[in-house]
Amino acid sequence: MLNNALFTVDYSEMVIVKDIDFYSLCEHHLLPFFGKCHVAYIPSTKVIGLSKIPRMVDVFARRLQVQERLTNQIADTIRDKIAPLGVAVVIEATHLCMSMRGVQKQNSFAVTSAMLGAFRNNTRTRMEFLELIKLRSVVPGLSGSSAAAEACTGDE
Ligand SMILES: [Zn+2]
Repeated sequence: MLNNALFTVDYSEMVIVKDIDFYSLCEHHLLPFFGKCHVAYIPSTKVIGLSKIPRMVDVFARRLQVQERLTNQIADTIRDKIAPLGVAVVIEATHLCMSMRGVQKQNSFAVTSAMLGAFRNNTRTRMEFLELIKLRSVVPGLSGSSAAAEACTGDE
C-alpha cells in the first residue's frame, strides 16, 4: 500500500502529520469510535509521502478495531516500511461503546500512544512531539491506555 510513496532523503528531521480524522468500529461492541490521529517519524534513509499517512490510517481504521491495535498497526507499518529512527503515533478517540453502556460519568475519551525507537528512548524527542501535538498528558513511552482497554475488553 505504501510502496509508491517511498523516497529517500539525506536529512533526519521529525516529520509530523497531525489531526488526521478517523472513524472506526469497535470490534467488541460493533459501535463507532472516532477522533484524531497524530503521526510522527524521524527518517533514516526513506520517507513516506505525506498524503500516504492519512490514507494508511484510513485503511486500518476501516476494519473492526480496538484503539490500541489501530495505534500499534500504524506505528508498526511505518517502522517496517521505512525503518526510521523513530515512530510515534497518538490517537485520541471518543467511544460510543463507553458512553452507551452507562459509563458516561467516566471519561469516554481515550488516548493511546505507540512510541518506537527515538521516541521511546529519547525523552526530549518524545516531549518535542507531544508538545507539537499539544498532548503532554500522554504517559511517556507507554503503548496503550487503560481507558480504552477497559472500554473494549469488558463484558460483552
Ligand atoms: Zn467497545
